[in-house]
Amino acid sequence: MDRQDLFSYIDSRKDDVIADLQSLIRQRSVSAKKQGLEQCAAVVAGIMVKAGINTRILNLPRDGKSDGQSSIASPIVYGEVKTKSRTPKTLLFYNHYDVQPEDPIELWEHDPYEGKVEGDYIYGRGSSDDKGELITRIKAVEYYLKFFGDVPCNIKFLVEGEEEIGSIHVGEYLAKYHDEFACDGVIWEFGYINEQNIPIITLGMKGLLFVELTATGPNRDAHSSLAVLIENPAWKLVHALNKLTDTSGRILINDWYKEVRDLTEREKAYLKTESFDEIRFKTEYGIHSFLNNAQGIEIQKALVTMPTCNIAGMISGYTGEGAKTIIPSTASVKIDFRLVPEMDPLVQLERLKKYLFDNGFDERSLKVRLLHGEAASRTNVDDPFVDVVSESAREVYGDAIISVSSPATGPMDSFAKNLKVPCISIGSTFIYSKMHSPNEFARIDLLLKTAKCMCGIMDRFASQNSMTEIPLG
Ligand SMILES: [Zn+2]
Repeated sequence: MDRQDLFSYIDSRKDDVIADLQSLIRQRSVSAKKQGLEQCAAVVAGIMVKAGINTRILNLPRDGKSDGQSSIASPIVYGEVKTKSRTPKTLLFYNHYDVQPEDPIELWEHDPYEGKVEGDYIYGRGSSDDKGELITRIKAVEYYLKFFGDVPCNIKFLVEGEEEIGSIHVGEYLAKYHDEFACDGVIWEFGYINEQNIPIITLGMKGLLFVELTATGPNRDAHSSLAVLIENPAWKLVHALNKLTDTSGRILINDWYKEVRDLTEREKAYLKTESFDEIRFKTEYGIHSFLNNAQGIEIQKALVTMPTCNIAGMISGYTGEGAKTIIPSTASVKIDFRLVPEMDPLVQLERLKKYLFDNGFDERSLKVRLLHGEAASRTNVDDPFVDVVSESAREVYGDAIISVSSPATGPMDSFAKNLKVPCISIGSTFIYSKMHSPNEFARIDLLLKTAKCMCGIMDRFASQNSMTEIPLG
C-alpha cells in the first residue's frame, strides 16, 4: 500500500468529507456577534475525536489580560496525534472555526447555515473560510491513520474561534500553552487555488495597523450659520486625511517606509512566476482599471510589497433625507494600514501621531485610537519546508505557484515569534469562492485534493526529518 492507494481511498470517502463539513457549517459561529462559538468548538472537537485525534478544549482565565474589547476569549480546540515511528518532528495545523456574519442574508440563494450541495459545490458561510480548510486537515489525518494505522510524524491542531475578529487572543494562547503548541512547522489556515486550478503556496502575510481618528468640534451639533465661528470637525478630519497620502496612494507620514527592505533576488524570481488574471479580476470587482494603472508584474509587486493606507469607513453629520444644516459635533474615520516585514505597528502608530501633531493637529481635537496592531511575517523562501509543501502540491495538483506573501493579514507573526518555526499557507479555497460574501461556496474536488496534499506534506515532512536528524555513525 502506498500513497496512491491512500489517495484512491480518500476519493472513496467523498460523502464522509461532505457530511462532516455540513455538520460544521450547520453550527453558526459568528465571532463578531459571539454567536455559537463554544458550541462550534464542541462540534469541531467531536469531529476530531471521531478522526482518532486526542482532543482538548483550551481556555484562557476570565480575568486574563483584557484587550479592552472583551476579557473572555473563545475556546481553542487543541488536537494531537503522536506517531509510533521514531520521527521526532511535529507538524501543527492552524485553523479557525469562527466565520464572518452572513449579512446581507437576502442575497443568499441558499440558507447560509444549511450546507447545500449542488454538483461539485457546497454552499454555506464558512464552507471555504475556514471550515472547508479545517476539514481537509482533519480528514487527511483521519484517513492516514485508518489506512496506515499510524501518522508519519507527530500532528497537532490549533483551531481558534477569533480569526475573523483579528485573532485577538491567539498570542496569549500561544504563550500560555507554549508546550502544547511546540512544533517544527505550521500549515496555515488557508490557501488559494487560482483560475487554472493551481494552488498558490503563500509564505507570508502582511501586518496591520488599524486606527480610529476622531475629530471633535462643538459639544453638540450646532446651527451651520455659526460655521464662520465654529470649526467644523468633518473639515478638520478631511484636512488631516488629505495629509496622509498623495493621489498615487504613497503614504506621506515621515519615516513610514524607513524599515521596508527590498525583495531578495529569489523573492523577485518567485514574484515573476505568479500569474494574475487581470481581466477576470476586474470583471469580478466591476472595476475598469487598477490604481496608478498598475499592470503586469507591478500588480504582484503592489500586492506583496506595498504598505497601504486605506479608509475603511467614515461618519459625521447628517446624510439623511432632505436638509439639516448643522455643524456636526464629531467626525470619525477608521483607517487600516497594511504593513510589510520590519514595520512595527506601534512604532508606525507613534509616527502617525507625531506627523499629525507636526502638521498642527493636536490630540485634544483629533484623537488617534489604536484598534488593532499586527506585525507582518514571512517564511524564508530558502527554508526546506517550502520544498516539502511545493512537492506535495505538485504531486496532487500537477503544478504549484509560490507566493512570497499574501496581501492579507493574519497572526503569523505570533506563531513565528512564539514557536520559532516556518509557517506556510496551502489549501483548498478557490480564489473566487465568495469568502466573506453571500453565497460562499467550497469546491468538493478541491477539498479532496487538499486532503491528499496534506497527507503528502506529512510524509515528506517526516522523511525530510529523518534524513537530517539521524546522527552519522
Ligand atoms: Zn475569513
